[in-house]
Amino acid sequence: MKVLATQSISPQTAFADVDLWIFDLDNTLYPYPPGLWAKIDGRMGAFISDLLSVDVIEARRVQKDYFLRYGLTVRGLMKHHGVEAEDFLAYVHDVDLSDIAPNPALGQAIDALPGRKVIHTNSDKAHVARVLTRLGIDSKIFAAIHDIQSTGFEPKPSPRAYDVVAKAEGIAPTRAAMFEDAARNLIEPHKRGMRTVLLPTACDIASAGKEGDHIHFVTDDLTGFLRSITGEDR
Ligand SMILES: [Mg+2]
Repeated sequence: MKVLATQSISPQTAFADVDLWIFDLDNTLYPYPPGLWAKIDGRMGAFISDLLSVDVIEARRVQKDYFLRYGLTVRGLMKHHGVEAEDFLAYVHDVDLSDIAPNPALGQAIDALPGRKVIHTNSDKAHVARVLTRLGIDSKIFAAIHDIQSTGFEPKPSPRAYDVVAKAEGIAPTRAAMFEDAARNLIEPHKRGMRTVLLPTACDIASAGKEGDHIHFVTDDLTGFLRSITGEDR
């Protein structure tokens, strides 16, 4: 296991009083198989192209414009075109997930953590369910799934997204830990006093700012890292 701690204390000590464990989904509980993100991205473009009767280049421009303006393409489509979020999310996530490798050991490591385990994702619940099934992880080990609909379409890293989760969980952030592949999504948790763990990614946008104080631990082996917290690695 590679653990690059920016803190000098061990994971077991650092996480000793944590009883809320917040996991991102995509590229955190599993690495994106090559081409999967491109497929989802391509389906967003295809949806917009069809909706607006424009070519793929114009569709892509609209997609990126809404993403930059609203932090989430679907919000622009809801606001300007009356798109039902469920329709868009179901369409873009209708991709083959068979390249995601089953990882029941990760489920066991998560389940062994003391306290509540939840997912906080910018994706939607249907996609979460499909991914967990594919991973061989029982969704029941998670006490809650906070998805883009339950956060009122406020995506991370918007502070409002974290507000919704904090309110729903009703727990002191200093007793929470957050696991993410997007470094910028850990800035707000760090500000609130959570412990943060980054799963490094090859994606430049997601890894921007990964050198900051808001990254407490970095690991490319989530199962091993969780086992080192619970002491199961010995
Ligand atoms: Mg992610």
